[in-house]
Amino acid sequence: MSSVTITIDGIKISAEEGMTVLQAAQANGLYIPNLCNHPDLRPAGLCRVCVVKQDDWKITISCKLPVKEGMVISTEDPAVQQIRKNTVELLIANHPMTCLTCEADSKCELQRVAHYVGITPDSINRYRRSVRSIPLDTSNPFFDIDHNKCIMCGICVRTCDELQNINAIDYAQRGVASLISTLGNKPIAESRCESCGECVVRCPVAALATKKSLQPMREVRSICSYCGVGCGIHLGVRGDKIVGVRGDQENPVNRGSLCVKGRFGYRFINHPERLTTPLVKKDGVLVEASWDEALDRIVEKFSEHKGEKFAALASARITNEDNYLIQKFTRAVMGTNNIDHCARL
Ligand code: SF4
Ligand code: SF4
Ligand code: SF4
Repeated sequence: MSSVTITIDGIKISAEEGMTVLQAAQANGLYIPNLCNHPDLRPAGLCRVCVVKQDDWKITISCKLPVKEGMVISTEDPAVQQIRKNTVELLIANHPMTCLTCEADSKCELQRVAHYVGITPDSINRYRRSVRSIPLDTSNPFFDIDHNKCIMCGICVRTCDELQNINAIDYAQRGVASLISTLGNKPIAESRCESCGECVVRCPVAALATKKSLQPMREVRSICSYCGVGCGIHLGVRGDKIVGVRGDQENPVNRGSLCVKGRFGYRFINHPERLTTPLVKKDGVLVEASWDEALDRIVEKFSEHKGEKFAALASARITNEDNYLIQKFTRAVMGTNNIDHCARL
């Protein structure tokens, strides 16, 4: 692929042919404010915040503008500044102002864009009438939907469509009543949503937000232990407790994506009912036992049930090596081919 040279605000940068102006700017460390763009998704051109002036005459959105040799772009032209400020003023005209208690505070793209375009108390009040008061959808066990904070960027809809191929959500209604909804406007838990959370992690505000989430004190890089795909994860840790999981963008297996189990299925780790010692049945009741006692009992009972009376079911949550050992043990020690694996269920 050949490269071209373009100029943004007097800075000459090189870009690959086929890139958009926004992508070229980002690849060169230049910020053009935007809200509906996401590197994992096709450009949508919905929010109109990324407007620029091209070759001193045409005002257009940079996320859909292909680079061309010699192109001159201004992001600071007064007309551009005015348009994007107006656009942001309209976006926040009915947006809640609860930043201090908001899940997205300090990582909110709307906050970042509002600061950048120079929103002031006066400009907030210019179009402000009232804040929407649509009830929260708390039906999903892992995340909540707050339509009142939604800026209709469509990132969630495109994530569910382009990346997940599930299409659980889409736009509904018209004009100021527009919102992101499920088929038949049912609670998300009753839709075809698989709770992967891919939309949640991409939402630029807190319209989609994880339930009960605490900020981690540190992160530990690891591998999801739920299945053989082996997705890379970062465990968010606070004290000695895991408080969150995020996908590892650098891991070639999943490139940051996770399914519902890897992203949200970590609460068992610190659950008070989690088994921490073996249990052995005595007089029909399971009681705590030492590992030595439990292993002796296994040897005793397994010895009585060798051959076709025995069957083993291996697990996707253990390593390939452990699964290999289970089949070897079943065949060579227990003398049967009755061995299967939960992945075939
Ligand atoms: S959680 Fe996953 S399946 Fe559900 S709406 Fe979001 S992207 Fe779609
Ligand atoms: S829920 Fe979030 S990602 Fe979806 S349209 Fe609203 S602001 Fe955008
Ligand atoms: S995140 Fe899902 S697909 Fe990835 S390893 Fe864990 S369980 Fe498997």
